[in-house]
Amino acid sequence: MSLVLPVIPGETILLIVRPDAALIQRMRQAFAKGRTRKACIGCEWAALCTSVAREGYRRTRLAG
Ligand code: SF4
Repeated sequence: MSLVLPVIPGETILLIVRPDAALIQRMRQAFAKGRTRKACIGCEWAALCTSVAREGYRRTRLAG
């Protein structure tokens, strides 16, 4: 499954439409598989975000 949203360092993703559960799931899967981690290179939070994804986002919540 592809996210079909290229993510590169310095690029902003603006989700104008509120993402539904299916898109959130696709984005989480893509992140967990490293497909959207290019922007994470050198980020001080990389280990934390990797851990969150590895745990399947079990303790995360989305506001909105
Ligand atoms: S906070 Fe997490 S998702 Fe955001 S750039 Fe850093 S490592 Fe990537």
